[in-house]
Formats: sequence, structure tokens, C-alpha cells
Amino acid sequence: MKRFIYADNAATTAVYPEVAAEIQKCCLEAWGNPSSAHQKGYEAKDILASSRKRIADVLGCDEKEIYFTSCGTEADNWAIKGAARRLAKKGKNHIVTTAIEHPAVLNTCKALEKEGFEVTYLPVDQYGIVSPESVRDAITDKTAIVAVMYANNEIGTIEPIAEITKIAHERGTLMFTDAVQAVGNVDINLHELGVDMLALSGHKLHAPKGIGVLYIKKGVLIDNLIDGGGQENRKRAGTENIPYIAGLAKALEMAKERMCELPRVAAMRDRLIEGLSKIPYSHVHGHPTERLPGIVNIGFKFIEGESMLLWLNLSGICASTGSACSSASLDASHVLLATGVPHEEAHGTLRLSISADTTDEDIDFIIETVPPIVKRLREMSPLWEEIVAAGKENG
Ligand code: PLP
Repeated sequence: MKRFIYADNAATTAVYPEVAAEIQKCCLEAWGNPSSAHQKGYEAKDILASSRKRIADVLGCDEKEIYFTSCGTEADNWAIKGAARRLAKKGKNHIVTTAIEHPAVLNTCKALEKEGFEVTYLPVDQYGIVSPESVRDAITDKTAIVAVMYANNEIGTIEPIAEITKIAHERGTLMFTDAVQAVGNVDINLHELGVDMLALSGHKLHAPKGIGVLYIKKGVLIDNLIDGGGQENRKRAGTENIPYIAGLAKALEMAKERMCELPRVAAMRDRLIEGLSKIPYSHVHGHPTERLPGIVNIGFKFIEGESMLLWLNLSGICASTGSACSSASLDASHVLLATGVPHEEAHGTLRLSISADTTDEDIDFIIETVPPIVKRLREMSPLWEEIVAAGKENG
């Protein structure tokens, strides 16, 4: 039987059967509108309240600080636009962010530039780390908000968020982190972390697509993004997606229970890195230690990442070249370019993102399958011919 290995968990994850069961139960039983003043409404309202509490308990915050959104992108937009527009009324029209954010943050900042805001896009080092000192230097009296991602979706680098948060607060600005890739893969306690706002997305942690959360710390005031009815404490209009909210609560609880499996995931990641970096002219991207347990990003010179994906798919391996959102375009990754990878090499990278459901046999199979594909693709490259002619094919 042909193998099937899913190694694209940073793009999306499989919905856990237990999560699907909770969603189905909700769809069939608690289908009322939580704003309705009758039995069906009360049932839905109870599930909304208990799910909010379950999520807050996992994240270490108060349930009043949890606001449901339709996805991570909406949470990112709301946090940044909401804070910027509110604080602009006090003369603060500057945003600090990084060059390696997800398009959900970068394009939100670009949209705000068109409204007249100034944005500083901080550089990162070769590993994708933004220096806390550069954040300190970038903040001015006009800075409304600092937005730095918790962990990068392409290379898995984890940013020093607690330190940056301290600096942002010392300098009197709000701190937001896009933790879409981190929640479920890193144990986060919101009150200990201290950020003012944090975004997460259900489909990255084995809940379905179409549900997200914006955590807003008590006392932090931002403008609404979506106007309408009085849902979510009058801050985010739209009838709540009760089944998916209950599913998200279940997925977060399961992620918490499965945290103990993360060292095993990290060991598989390291085995992948070790196995694949034996290929000559390969380069592992991201930080050597400050990285997510499940993401490997490796570049192979002289080949295109996209061709490799096609061959991997034929071998039963689902992988990616970078973020799923940009895979429709053939632009080189802005994240890799920001870490100093040359343009031509930023095209040849492979992102393998594994989960606690990945097995050691899956890792063995990937390690066996990738080298012959790289070899075959290189044989089609005129640049590789020159390397072979020079007798340098082993690096
Ligand atoms: N932020 C990061 C870091 C992501 O990786 C993603 C999705 O890939 C998003 C935001 C967007 O989340 P969603 O797909 O829920 O809109």
C-alpha cells in the first residue's frame, strides 16, 4: 500500500476525532442562538460560557479576556487595526513590527500605512530572531503598538516575546503577539507572559478552519473591527459559532494533555534535520535551539522547492515550500530573504512540519525519499552540471 505521510501541519492540522465528535454533538443538540431568550438559546449560551472558561483555563487567563473570531487573520487584523486606530486619537500613529511576520500582520500594517500610520519593519538575524534591543530603539513617543510573532510559520524560530513585552511596557506601548503557530506547540501561560493581546487559530491545533481567538488583557481598549450586534461583550459582532468554539476548547485541552509528547516530536525533528542535512549543498534554516518542535526548513541548492513538492507528493509525502498562503505565488520567501538567504536559494527550500501523530517510521521514510528526489532534480540543472564537471558534487 502506498504510504501517506502528512508533514504539513504548519499549513493546517487534521481535526482530532474527539474534536469532531464534540462539534457534531453541538451541531445536533446545542444549535440554538446564544442570544435567544428560550431553552435552545440558553443551551447554546451555556456551551459558549463553558467553552470560554475551558479555553481561558488552558491559556492561563480570565474568561472575560477571550474573544472569538473567525480565524487567526481576523484576530491579527483586529488587534493591530483596533489598537492603532484607537491610539491614533491620542496622537500615536506608529507601529513596530518585524520583517518576518505572516502576511496577516504584514498586509494589515501595509493597509494602515495607507491610512497614514508609520510602520517600522525590524530586521532579524540569520536565525530569524528579532533583537529586543532593536525593539527598544524603534519605539518612540508616537508608538501605539509593537507586534512581534511568537513563532515563525516558515522556519519555526521562537521570538523572545517575554523580553520584548517587558521593553514595550517600559516604553509605554501595547504588545501584541501572533501566536498562531505557537499555541499547541509551546506551553503558554498568558498572565505570566504579560502580552496585551495574542492571536490563535483553531486549525493549527487540530480544530477546524474558521475559528480563532483574540486574547485581550483586561483593561486594554481597542476599537472594534466588525460592527453589528452586541456579541462578544459588544466588541466583535456576529452570531457565535458555538460548535467550533466547543471544538476549539476540546482541541486546546487535548493540546495541553499532549504537551508531554513534544520532546518526542522535537527528537523526530532533529532526526530529520540530521538525516536531510547530509545531502550536499543543503542548509537548515531557523534557530538551532529556539525553534518549534515540529518545523524543519531546509534548502537544497540548485533545485526549485515546487518541483520537489510534486515528487514528494507522488511518493505519498505532503510537505510545503513555505507558508500555504504564499504557495500560490512563486516569489521567494520574505522570511528567508530577511534572514539573509540569497534570492536563488530562497526558492529551493522544503518545509516539513510534523506533529505528535508523526511516527519514527514516517521520519525514516522521509529521510530515505528526499535524497533521490534532490539528486534527480539536480541532474536537470545546468548549474549542477558545472558542479559535477568540477568534481564538487559532494560539497
Ligand atoms: N499567523 C500565522 C503565523 C500563521 O501561520 C497563519 C496561518 O498560516 C495565520 C496567522 C493566519 O491564520 P488563519 O489561517 O487562521 O487565518
